[in-house]
Amino acid sequence: MHYFEYKNGELYAEGVKVQDLADTYGTPLYIYSAATLRRHFKAFDSAFEGLPHLTCYSVKANSNLSLLKILAECGAGMDIVSGGELYRALAAGVNPEKIVYSGVGKRTEEIRQALEAGILMFNVESMGELERISVQASDMGKVARISLRINPDVDPKTHPYISTGLKKNKFGLDLEQSYAAYARAMTLPGVDPVGIDCHIGSQLTTIEPFLEALDRLSLFHDRLKGLGLRIEYLDLGGGLGITYDEEEPPHPSVFGQALTNVLKDYPLTLILEPGRVIAGNSGILVTEAVYTKKTPSKDFVIVDAAMNDLVRPSLYGAFHTIKEVTPKDRPSLNVDVVGPICESGDFLARDRALPAVEPGERLAVFSAGAYGFTMSSNYNSRPRAAEIIVDGDTVILARRRETYEDLIALEK
Ligand code: PLP
Repeated sequence: MHYFEYKNGELYAEGVKVQDLADTYGTPLYIYSAATLRRHFKAFDSAFEGLPHLTCYSVKANSNLSLLKILAECGAGMDIVSGGELYRALAAGVNPEKIVYSGVGKRTEEIRQALEAGILMFNVESMGELERISVQASDMGKVARISLRINPDVDPKTHPYISTGLKKNKFGLDLEQSYAAYARAMTLPGVDPVGIDCHIGSQLTTIEPFLEALDRLSLFHDRLKGLGLRIEYLDLGGGLGITYDEEEPPHPSVFGQALTNVLKDYPLTLILEPGRVIAGNSGILVTEAVYTKKTPSKDFVIVDAAMNDLVRPSLYGAFHTIKEVTPKDRPSLNVDVVGPICESGDFLARDRALPAVEPGERLAVFSAGAYGFTMSSNYNSRPRAAEIIVDGDTVILARRRETYEDLIALEK
């Protein structure tokens, strides 16, 4: 459910015409809907009201400061994976006691930065990290709350690049290593093991892999009691999928109910780290057709957005619905929608039936609110797109378009 709708033959973002936004701010342009963000956050968070819980939005999905502020105002905690994301979350006014810090490669200065801020918990991914956090916390006269990220070896049945909970993945520790790590953590002066964590992957469209992981973690939790450990938090990560095309992921309420059924008798606070399910369908990318081109084998629509703006189709072969901003009645063509970048992998859609658009017309690429702008780059020296947030009839320029001066500002 989102608030990008056609009214009287024109696409609107809440109360504002997308065509007008593209006229004012240019293209390519990311547009986010504040009402959709709030709605998604509330739908997700309220699904767990039967359990003590904390919903930590995963900043990596979309880290725009104005967007983080909206979620912080809804009461969201945040899941971060870098010092930069910590900086953003704090700048957005997020309570540090609602921040969890994941990621396999936390550097010493990032660990200190998080200790200084007083975050809720580190999700520790290796023995080396465990030792380092203890040393740094002791040095700062602190004790760091930690979870160990457990790799439960569960197949999330998603794209291999966003599958993280299999034995072969770089994330977390397996159950035996984790057990040894908890035992070690109990002897270290600078850490307090208070949680168990896992994140098995992203864009999951069924609940079963989550339940399988939960099953393994709850058995493991029982085992930890033998060590005399008192675990307070269970962090199940993010990963709930969204509809890009014809996927039918479970509604958050179904997900929430399934987890509640399992966890209702556990004296644990559940932490969730949703990213895509909050931001994904809260954003679109608007692009303008620059040329159309017919070759003996294909029809192309060459647009002004490229893989540097939205890499998901090139990186994962991901599908994004593409529609005209101002639809017209005309025949469809089977086209590739491609960008101006000098790579054959630079496409937004392949073999897609689209109305025969003319140069100058705008297209909306849907479901672009998560892993869109955050994965964008300056490849081919393309300034990054502007980001707009629409809130009712109000338009916020959440990030101005980069300029050529910005492109070379850090260089000699
Ligand atoms: N938590 C962790 C540790 C992650 O790595 C990710 C995504 O990669 C997420 C949460 C968010 O996942 P999603 O956007 O699928 O909810």
